[in-house]
Amino acid sequence: MSKPGATAEANRQDPKDTIFAKIVAGQIPCKKVYEDDLCLVFDDIAPCAPVHCLIIPKKPIGGVSDLDGEEHKKILGHMMVTIPKVAEIKGIDGYRLVINEGVHGCQSVRWLHIHIIGGKQLSWPPG
Ligand code: 5GP
Repeated sequence: MSKPGATAEANRQDPKDTIFAKIVAGQIPCKKVYEDDLCLVFDDIAPCAPVHCLIIPKKPIGGVSDLDGEEHKKILGHMMVTIPKVAEIKGIDGYRLVINEGVHGCQSVRWLHIHIIGGKQLSWPPG
């Protein structure tokens, strides 16, 4: 089943034109959970669980398929080690990380983001 918003048009978008670019720039509000020089974490606007945050790089990266080079390795490594801090802030001790990539992966915002989903017993497989 497809997901509204996960369109070819959305996935052709320049990351700098996405809603997450505006969130990083402070042009539209978000419920901020954590922030540092490299990344920003905020609550998803349409949570699918009691805890549903998005961790995003501050630099514009469209998605996993755009990853390349040492700077991206640094940013992604930093995002990964930030996730346990987010879990501590949110008080969750088990969670799921999701990256949707491209149209077939149901990505709807073409700015790399990792979903952090928890706060309840999750089920598997996700489908
Ligand atoms: P994707 O579908 O690309 O994997 O995930 C995009 C996520 O961004 C969705 O879960 C959606 O609810 C969330 N989202 C879209 N627009 C906004 C927004 O303006 N603010 C926040 N906080 N989340 C958003």
